[in-house]
Amino acid sequence: MTKVPTPKPWISAIHAYVPGKSTGADGRPLIKLSANENPLGTSPHALAARADVAEPCRYPDPDSKALRAAIGGLHGIDPARIVMGTGSDELLNLAAQGYAGPGDEVVYVRYGFSVYDIAARRCGATPVVAPDADYGTDVDALLALVSARTRVVFIANPNNPTGSFLPAGEIARLHAGLPADVLLVIDQAYGEYVAAADDDGALALAERHDNVLVTRTFSKIYGLAGERIGWGTGAAPIVDTLNRIRGPFNISSTGQAMALAAVADQAFVEQSREHNRAERARFVAALEAMGNHGLRPLPSQANFVLILFEGKLTAEAAYNGLAERGTITRWLPGQGLPQALRITIGTAAQMDDIVAGLRELAEAAK
Ligand SMILES: *Cc1c(COP(=O)(O)O)cnc(C)c1O
Repeated sequence: MTKVPTPKPWISAIHAYVPGKSTGADGRPLIKLSANENPLGTSPHALAARADVAEPCRYPDPDSKALRAAIGGLHGIDPARIVMGTGSDELLNLAAQGYAGPGDEVVYVRYGFSVYDIAARRCGATPVVAPDADYGTDVDALLALVSARTRVVFIANPNNPTGSFLPAGEIARLHAGLPADVLLVIDQAYGEYVAAADDDGALALAERHDNVLVTRTFSKIYGLAGERIGWGTGAAPIVDTLNRIRGPFNISSTGQAMALAAVADQAFVEQSREHNRAERARFVAALEAMGNHGLRPLPSQANFVLILFEGKLTAEAAYNGLAERGTITRWLPGQGLPQALRITIGTAAQMDDIVAGLRELAEAAK
């Protein structure tokens, strides 16, 4: 028998991340409301900065110094306590790798972000999944599963794919219930979509405690998903750990320049937040006005809405029907949600189209 290299069993157990699609079954491009991208695009200042990057033959700044200073200035964080990642995805994986390994446990909630499962398995740790509370995060259920083997707890706030949100009191209660040697990772990929008055207090926790890492991204409200830029903040030893194992030049020159310009353009961020708030409210109201077709939009603080299909029209039929009409959404049977569609908030016209499409499909299924 010929021998072949054998992957580690915990690597073989990983289900690769399934990204949102952008083309239909026949390959034609569709309006993409499947990946929570910004429908307003990217700040024009960031786009202009892309052209300024000189000398692609040079390595980028390995420490993204100017960018960390700008992020620190915006959020009132010492730049020494900021670590950059190739997307926040890199940081989520590094957090698991830095603090957990074979025999250790990584805890997150059912219907949490799918990367947590991959991050736990990649480093050989055992994923432990807490039950949800009507699709939301249940702090008591999470805490009940924390054991002597628990090394890392992941929570996204707002959560993807549910859109659910834990207020500051619940986040504080979760943190207070954890042993001091368990790392709490609070993933705020959608943090900028939350109104300032509803701040969940995660950044303040990361500033005050030795066991909290908060991650953020330029992929969502900043409209820079293609550049792969994320950042995290926590106590100095946590930042030091992640810096040891991150890619040495993990943010490209172009990415650093564009993100720097994007941070400076908070007017674009505000405009994106307001667009999202207004269109999300209009979308949910239209769904609720559709009457008794069994479509249940879950309350969302993010730039998408998860709709449960509890009537005659199934999520799968709605997914296929909307795709036939030219829009791709996210159907999530692989995440245990065959009854749900996640729909990104797009432009006003795109949302009108979706509502019209869903109404037609629901009437036809009656
Ligand atoms: C989109 C998303 C991310 C961001 O991933 P990037 O690697 O920064 O593009 C992180 N966490 C959650 C929950 C997300 O939905």
